[in-house]
Amino acid sequence: MGGLVERLRAGLPEGAVAVDPDVTAAYARDMAGFCAVGEPAVLVFPETVEQVRFVLRTATELRVPVVPQGARTGLSGGANAVDGCILLSLTRMNRILRLDPVDRIAVVQPGVVNAELSRAAEALGLSYPPDPSSWESCTIGGNIGTGAGGLCCVKYGVTSEYVLGLEVVLADGQLLRTGRSTAKGVAGYDLTRLLVGSEGTLGVVVEAVLALRPAPGPQLVLAAEFDSVDAAGHAVCEVMSAGHAPSLMELMDATTVRAVNAMARMGLPESTRALLLVAFDGSDRRERLAEVAALCTAAGATAVVPAEDRAESELLLQARRLSLPALERLGTTMIDDVAVPRSSLAAMLNGVAEIADRYRLTIGVVSHAGDGNTHPVVIFDAKDEEQAARARSSFDEIMALGLELGGTVTGEHGIGLLKREWLARELGPVGLELQRRIKAAFDPLGILNPGKVL
Ligand SMILES: Cc1cc2nc3c(=O)[nH]c(=O)nc-3n(C[C@H](O)[C@H](O)[C@H](O)COP(=O)(O)OP(=O)(O)OC[C@H]3O[C@@H](n4cnc5c(N)ncnc54)[C@H](O)[C@@H]3O)c2cc1C
Repeated sequence: MGGLVERLRAGLPEGAVAVDPDVTAAYARDMAGFCAVGEPAVLVFPETVEQVRFVLRTATELRVPVVPQGARTGLSGGANAVDGCILLSLTRMNRILRLDPVDRIAVVQPGVVNAELSRAAEALGLSYPPDPSSWESCTIGGNIGTGAGGLCCVKYGVTSEYVLGLEVVLADGQLLRTGRSTAKGVAGYDLTRLLVGSEGTLGVVVEAVLALRPAPGPQLVLAAEFDSVDAAGHAVCEVMSAGHAPSLMELMDATTVRAVNAMARMGLPESTRALLLVAFDGSDRRERLAEVAALCTAAGATAVVPAEDRAESELLLQARRLSLPALERLGTTMIDDVAVPRSSLAAMLNGVAEIADRYRLTIGVVSHAGDGNTHPVVIFDAKDEEQAARARSSFDEIMALGLELGGTVTGEHGIGLLKREWLARELGPVGLELQRRIKAAFDPLGILNPGKVL
């Protein structure tokens, strides 16, 4: 690969090309387990669109695979190295280029961290709603790559609803502009939407036009305790069918509650089977919360505790955000991401409990309950091969259950390497073949993130 590295060094600034194996190995994977990690040839940090185009042109000429990367917080292996690849880190392209309160848009480079954009928008009385729990570290490029969701998506929707237009470098180095920066626009096929969630397999996002919204008011949160997931699932359905639009509706099971308490001494109720957090951010938030409290009680909640103020609300949200890191302290984890119709949430959670029993494993579940999006977290000892095999099988059964219930194998984390076989099952042969043809139209030589998704 000497030729490749020399070519890249000749066209990129000092310090933008790394070949030290310790450094490249440190960038070789995201945060997913059970995914193959290849050996990269080189790691590059372009700072301009022209530099990204140069990298892609070089890669195409030399037929070298390219793996785009953001902060590598992904949970599906999408940013993992493939053998001999160029790791293309977009983290140095991290400028917010424009914030426009009239058109209510932000124009950003892909390496901007989600929380930085959110704070910059907030300073203008605006908001960028998609808020993955990893928002303090994940990048907008990665969010677009995965089509990320988050805690407030039950009211405000996921990343795809906020991406108006993109600048994308194609595999051969051409620059593609898609979409618009206007409030409306329907010209041609919606390539913007196609690129969101394409996991770096169709093009490299180098600039994005994002929609902003007026900043919502502060959230007021309520915690409701249930002694069965059926009752909690019923409460979720009652809240939604009563026409409420909560800004957050999250569910933590008993394992998750205990793990968060052990990590952060939050004092969450450990006797509960399911802890439901519901929030409203409108000016009528207190009234709405009182109505939801009554619905939860009628659905069988054993306790309903509304937060008194913003500080108490923030503490409950913090508990939810700590769920994954807290569960990770219990052992090696595999985080699933199955979304089902809300009406099937209880069936999904009961099914996961049954799978956990049958496989003799601990599976903690945290859910974006209002979206029916569950994250069953399988916990196991990776050094115990037999247990690791059971963990893998239970993970697969959880996806099968999700499909059986009319759901999808991924609500927001993407397919990456982890769920390729499952995508084929979900799409069926016609859908899969069409998606392969789309990939070939964008990237006929298979340069971009080969082996991922399809
Ligand atoms: C503690 C924790 C909590 C999380 N919570 C959530 C959550 O609530 N909701 C959620 O949706 N996810 C969540 N995630 C998963 C993860 O943070 C998201 O998938 C996030 O969008 C990944 O962003 P990233 O910058 O880390 O991207 P990476 O992991 O680096 O990349 C993700 C994918 O996007 C591609 N990509 C990256 N940049 C570009 C680009 N510029 N152009 C084209 N393709 C690109 C990569 O090739 C890869 O396929 C969580 C992860 C952790 C560790």
